[in-house]
Amino acid sequence: MEQQKCCSILLFIANSYRMLTVLNKYYNKLNKIFKVILVINLFFIVNNFALSQMVRNQGAIGDVRPNQSDIYSENHNIDFKILKKASSGKSIHNSTYIIVADNNEAIIVDPYGDYNIVFNAKQLVDPNTGKCVRIISIDDLNKEYVVSGDWATDKKSGERFIIYVYYTTSSPYNSVENFETIKEIIDENKLDIRYIFITHGHLDHFGDLNEVKEMTNAEVVMHIADVRLIDGSRLTDDDIDAVISKQLSVYPKDTYRFQELKTEVNKLVTHGDTLTIGNLSFTVQHLPGHSMGSIGLYIETGGNPVLFSGDAFFNNGLTKLKYVDGSGDKDEYENTMRYIKTLPSNTAVLSATGTPFNIEKTVGYPKD
Ligand SMILES: [Zn+2]
Repeated sequence: MEQQKCCSILLFIANSYRMLTVLNKYYNKLNKIFKVILVINLFFIVNNFALSQMVRNQGAIGDVRPNQSDIYSENHNIDFKILKKASSGKSIHNSTYIIVADNNEAIIVDPYGDYNIVFNAKQLVDPNTGKCVRIISIDDLNKEYVVSGDWATDKKSGERFIIYVYYTTSSPYNSVENFETIKEIIDENKLDIRYIFITHGHLDHFGDLNEVKEMTNAEVVMHIADVRLIDGSRLTDDDIDAVISKQLSVYPKDTYRFQELKTEVNKLVTHGDTLTIGNLSFTVQHLPGHSMGSIGLYIETGGNPVLFSGDAFFNNGLTKLKYVDGSGDKDEYENTMRYIKTLPSNTAVLSATGTPFNIEKTVGYPKD
């Protein structure tokens, strides 16, 4: 019995040893299998990440990076240059494009610069000449003049003037630098700026307009639906209250440099109008939705159609409709999206924000 017990124990030990050896053998094999699985998984993880990045970037065209539209014009077959940088290396703001024809005639799109408006003063305009004769604070206006509706009568001389809103713009210091960079680009490329094209009347798209206009004497181009957001001679107090003051809420008031906004819009355009520089002819596109007067510039050139779209697109086709001043319109924007799909599918969209992208990748619905 004792012997049998002993044998059983020895047998058990031997079997256990054999079992362990077998298990160890399998363990090594399993270990190898798990390692292979791990490598395969790692491969898929990396691959999936790369794929997800590709999906994320699917709207982007080739090697173009944000703020580098000059690279776009270098690397794509188009008949014009897009200048965004001075030789000093300074770049102009992302939303601004300088389109240059081969004879150096050029269009500046959206001379950017955040700005702010003050409207605690009025301007008195000579009704015969239409010229502003005095900027006056509202307090002094009421002291020195008899005010009746849009008219102010001088208490002493009896002279009558039309009262217009007086408003000023302001720009943060980076806008000063932005303007100086625009100037540098114009000077070093000896550009003849023919048009200053304002894609729409939101404050962050034309803050450098005064200085650029003064420097170039180019024509300021806009769609009539947004003109009231810019042109002082066309503004009413209602506009100020209903539109401008609401826009102000998004711009910090205290850090801004003030300047007088006196720019007039010289050329009103609508869908299908053309702007010509050198031998290039750009077609104006009315793209309402983001604002009612949103316009773009379109050209079919070198087999690569290009659309400068302003804020009608925010990077890959989503725009913002609920702008603080309430200037957006969803139905109009959906119409614009339907229209945009009728342009050639390989049209490159150079919008005011982000990387150039292909029009067929645009998402045809608005973002609230
Ligand atoms: Zn805008």
